[in-house]
Amino acid sequence: MDSSTPADVVLVLNAGSSSLKFAMYASAGALAWQAVARGQIEGIGSTPRMIVKAADGSLRPVPALASSVVDGRAALAFLVEWLNEAFAGARIVGVGHRVVHGGPDHSRPVVVTPAILDELRKLEPLAPLHQPFNLGAIDAVAQRLPGVPQVACFDTSFHRGQPAVAELVPLPAELRKGGLQRYGFHGLSYEYIASVLPDIAPAIASGRVIIAHLGSGASLCALRDGRSVDSSLGFTALDGLCMGTRPGALDPGVVLYLFQGLGMSAQEVETVLYKRSGLLGISGISNDMRDLLASDAASARLAIDYFVYRAAREIGALAAVLGGLDAIVFTAGIGEHSAEVRGRICEASAWLGLQLDRAANDAHATCISAPGSKVSAWMIPTNEELMIARHTGRLLGLVGAKP
Ligand code: ADP
Repeated sequence: MDSSTPADVVLVLNAGSSSLKFAMYASAGALAWQAVARGQIEGIGSTPRMIVKAADGSLRPVPALASSVVDGRAALAFLVEWLNEAFAGARIVGVGHRVVHGGPDHSRPVVVTPAILDELRKLEPLAPLHQPFNLGAIDAVAQRLPGVPQVACFDTSFHRGQPAVAELVPLPAELRKGGLQRYGFHGLSYEYIASVLPDIAPAIASGRVIIAHLGSGASLCALRDGRSVDSSLGFTALDGLCMGTRPGALDPGVVLYLFQGLGMSAQEVETVLYKRSGLLGISGISNDMRDLLASDAASARLAIDYFVYRAAREIGALAAVLGGLDAIVFTAGIGEHSAEVRGRICEASAWLGLQLDRAANDAHATCISAPGSKVSAWMIPTNEELMIARHTGRLLGLVGAKP
């Protein structure tokens, strides 16, 4: 162990269908966690490869992965072995997981027990593309790191406690029994932003704020006094804004048409809704906003126009929910990096009293609205992994936990 290797670390895992993202945190004093390394194994099941960045963002050399890394369990085994070698002497004292679905009752993270795991497995039908992989990582850690406590942090928790009308799916009661309601997602990102607002923007922290999480997945959250009162994502992560490959809100009749009019199978419809629509579907070019911004094609411009249009429209809807608006916060890949998209959404929201400071926006400043703007606008990088590390530390009683 070299002198920079920390003794006790928390491992944060975000397991998907073909990738395993991870971050390692060490205690950095009484109230803080410091990222030691972060990275991912991607291409699991096809051509797996690992990327790791050190705390300063520099790439760390890593061994090539054998094609035997065919599933999440094998990826986790490889990761643990590599961590043991690269950070020899460090002790993993807790593992925090991103778990997409906590169901209607979990309004905060929990320490994983066999009973909790059984309960979370019952939610798999509500998030079949994510939940099984999240829980698979918990199983794999229990096998590879027996005795190390694990914490499940849910993307849905932050939204619990919303008014009944915000959670309602207005279908017959007997159909709603199995958990058919609006849950909202991206909760760890929203919780992180809400946690830093009192320091970064104290004047708005207890006000009416819309956070725009604009990444591959995109959604909005309406906050009042730091708590979620509504969100643009609902029962699944398909609702609301236009996303990289998902369409956002659709007339449900469109889905009926795909089945009845075009004779598609359930599997085909699922693929259209999750993988072929949104920015990719509109443009026919790419799901990546960078590619579209760089393209001269009319279809790329239309995709960006729709992305902005839909975001501005949903901001108006959530401003109505909040009874007015004090601020908009942009975060995630597009929200943090694209001055053009941020600027256009702000300009489309000028009717709310938002006056953009173009120079500040172009410079990716934290505050991007003009002095005196009635509604202020902000760019704040999100940090879901840090949020998970904080929760894990707090629940396990580890030093470094933020109270
Ligand atoms: P994920 O949901 O995969 O975590 P991110 O929050 O990393 O997504 O956002 C990914 C998206 O952010 C990319 O698909 C890309 O469209 C967008 N993005 C990243 N950097 C830029 C940039 N400089 N300009 C415009 N868009 C960007």
